[in-house]
Amino acid sequence: MSFIIGPMRKHVDGHKELTSHTDVVNLSPNTVAIPLVSGAMTADLLVKEGDKVKVGTKIAQCNGNFTIPMFSSVSGTVKGVQQIMHSWLKPVDHLVIENDQQYTFEAPFAPVDFEKASREELIEFTMNAGIVGCGGAGFPTYVKYKFAKDIQLLIINAVECEPYITADYKEMKAHVAELVLGTRALLKMSGAQVAKVAIKATKKDFIPTLQEAFKPYSNIEVVAVPDVYPMGWERTLVYELTKKRYEKLPSEVGCIVNNATTAISLAQALKEGKPIVEKIITVSGDGIKTPSNVKVPVGTTAHELVQTCGGYAAEDVLLIAGGPMMGKTITSDAFVIAPYSNALTVFVNKPVEAIACLRCGKCSDHCPAGLQPVRINNAAKVNNTALLEKLNYDACIECGMCSYICPSKIDVTEGIRRAKRYMALKKK
Ligand code: SF4
Ligand code: SF4
Repeated sequence: MSFIIGPMRKHVDGHKELTSHTDVVNLSPNTVAIPLVSGAMTADLLVKEGDKVKVGTKIAQCNGNFTIPMFSSVSGTVKGVQQIMHSWLKPVDHLVIENDQQYTFEAPFAPVDFEKASREELIEFTMNAGIVGCGGAGFPTYVKYKFAKDIQLLIINAVECEPYITADYKEMKAHVAELVLGTRALLKMSGAQVAKVAIKATKKDFIPTLQEAFKPYSNIEVVAVPDVYPMGWERTLVYELTKKRYEKLPSEVGCIVNNATTAISLAQALKEGKPIVEKIITVSGDGIKTPSNVKVPVGTTAHELVQTCGGYAAEDVLLIAGGPMMGKTITSDAFVIAPYSNALTVFVNKPVEAIACLRCGKCSDHCPAGLQPVRINNAAKVNNTALLEKLNYDACIECGMCSYICPSKIDVTEGIRRAKRYMALKKK
């Protein structure tokens, strides 16, 4: 990681108005398909075809480097295992469950009063509840806390800097009390004395509500941060709030960062014994007829989300699992919503004619990771592995800024993704 970094941030048109002021729509599919993978780990199945399940029934568990339990998001009948394309762009096993539309719930674990539980008990609870990062990454939350030492500051990331996405905003508006509870529980788990809840200064309608909700807790401060991209990236946010930079992990400078929806999910688990079984997904972009936030059970297909939002606005669309900057372009809407999904972005496909690099240096100036994106892209084109290593290609967070900023319309980010794939294959 270079420490000679550029401005690290830039105002990007948010287009949040497409979905931020409309009601959340509910969608109840006839079947769900729960992905039986997490990262590189596959899950051991705990149910079989024909079994009856309820919302919350534990259906599988990943046991590898991490422990991740998986739960049914609907009540109904297990139909079997099927290979379906995942948003990670590869087919993986999914457990298909027919939804009886009753949503009968069984708590897979007992609720816990976080004030009475020890830090260690809370970490174990978070592991058994399967709480994962809801900001798109899906990393098991308990792991950060288990190995954290000397943490002084917990940061709750309510920034949602990625354009178009308003799912966190909707979750927070609907669950202010849970956000407070989850933040307090995470604060105890972190061992820190203080927490900051970071939200964009442009959320003027909501900041007073948050300030009021956190008022009884003098050790938790709501902080308005600038409306720039990628303010929600951990490294940028930690720097904004502490003026400290770190090499690999925020814990090096005494910080832990968690997404706001993750805090809400933890609170629901603590209060109700409820794992992450449903998500609000922002479906937005000029390629969808009615951009909306849709609440769905985990395992609902992107196709059904699109249909609920009126269908595609054009025949030729660009489909992105996630937001336009950090999401993954995907060719089919057959993939399903996972516990960590937050958005589906659809654009009318307008082929862009890239021209030759102008050597303007803007991509390097704006790269939040301090990289030289165009040089990595060029090294990737000729598979120059030594140069790729030297240019620290692996530090790219795929934020999309270099493609966004490029006046020549070169998709620099995609070139770097290609470099990562190539290097991963080479190292196998
Ligand atoms: S996509 Fe990677 S190389 Fe491009 S600006 Fe973001 S971090 Fe830098
Ligand atoms: S921003 Fe685009 S045109 Fe400018 S140096 Fe980078 S790749 Fe070349």
